[in-house]
Amino acid sequence: MTKVLYLAGWGRSGSTILEAVLNQVPELVGCGELKFVWRRGLIENRRCSCGTPLRECGFWTRVFHEAYGGIPEARLAALDAATGRYRTRHLPSLLLPGARDRYAPELAWYRDDLATLYRAVARVAGAQVVVDSSKFPSHLVALLQTPGLDVRVAHIVRDPRAVAYSWQRDKIDPDAPDGGRMPRLLPGVTGAYWSSWNLATERIARTNRLPYLRVRYEDMIADPRAAIGPVLELAGLPGDRVPVAADGTVGLGVSHQVSGNPVRFSQGAIRIRDDDEWTREMGAAAQVVVNAVTTPVRQRYGYRSARPAPVLAATPERVGS
Ligand SMILES: [Zn+2]
Repeated sequence: MTKVLYLAGWGRSGSTILEAVLNQVPELVGCGELKFVWRRGLIENRRCSCGTPLRECGFWTRVFHEAYGGIPEARLAALDAATGRYRTRHLPSLLLPGARDRYAPELAWYRDDLATLYRAVARVAGAQVVVDSSKFPSHLVALLQTPGLDVRVAHIVRDPRAVAYSWQRDKIDPDAPDGGRMPRLLPGVTGAYWSSWNLATERIARTNRLPYLRVRYEDMIADPRAAIGPVLELAGLPGDRVPVAADGTVGLGVSHQVSGNPVRFSQGAIRIRDDDEWTREMGAAAQVVVNAVTTPVRQRYGYRSARPAPVLAATPERVGS
C-alpha cells in the first residue's frame, strides 16, 4: 500500500504553506496538486516548484521512468480526459451508496495508472507518505477508488472572509498562462464554493470512514508546531517532529510540486506569520455577503463573529533579505 496524505479544503486556505512544512520532514514528500500533473504538468509543461519545466525536472523524469518507463505520451490526452471524468459536478452521483465500486468501470486503467504514479513518487523520493494537495473533493474520490492507496485526509479550513478577500485580489502567478495572474472570484461565489467544498470533503471522509483531521488555518499560524503535530500523527509519524522553529521560521529546501499557489517557489528560511490585511481592507458589504453565504458551515468551524476577526493569511516573509 502507498500511504497518501490528502490535503483537502477550498483554495487559498493555506494548504501550500502546510505542504511546504510537511515536505521538510524526510518521511514525507509533497508533490503539489497531483490532479494537474497531466494537464498543467505534462501537456502544458508548466514549471515544477524547483523552477524547471516539469518535463525537464530531474525528479519527475525519474518518477515517470519508474512508473511507466518514461512519460506516457500516447496516453496523455486520455489521462487528462479521465481526470475530467472526476468532476465536482459529478459528486452527487459519486457519493451515492455503492458508487465507490460502480463508478466508471471503463476507467480502471486510469486508476491503475494513478496507483503506479503515487507508488513511483514514494519510491523515487524515498518517502513513506505522498502528500497530495489537490484539494478537490472529486480527486479525493478518484483516489479512494484507486487500488493500493492508503488515503488519510487533512482538511484545512480558514475564515471564509479571509479566503474571499484573497480570491478578490489581483495576484501575480509567474506560472499562469493568461498574463501571469491568479484567477479571481467574487466574494459570494467564493463563499458558495467554500461551503460546498468543505461539506463535500467532510461527507466523503465520513461515508468512507477515512482517517481525518480538520486543521484551522488560524490555529496553524498562531502555533504551527501544535497544529501540525497531529497532521504528522495522521500520517503515522511522531507528532513532535514539526520542522518549524519556536519563532515560526521554517527552512525550505528544493521541492518538486506540481501546480499550486506561487508560494511553492519559495526557498530558504521563511517565517509563518499573520497577515491581517483583509480585516482592514475588505469592504463591509463583501463581508456580509460571505457571512450570509457560508452560514451555518462557518459556525461549525468556529467562525462565529460577525465582525472582522483579528488575524490571518499566511504570507511567508523572507528572513534576512
Ligand atoms: Zn522539480
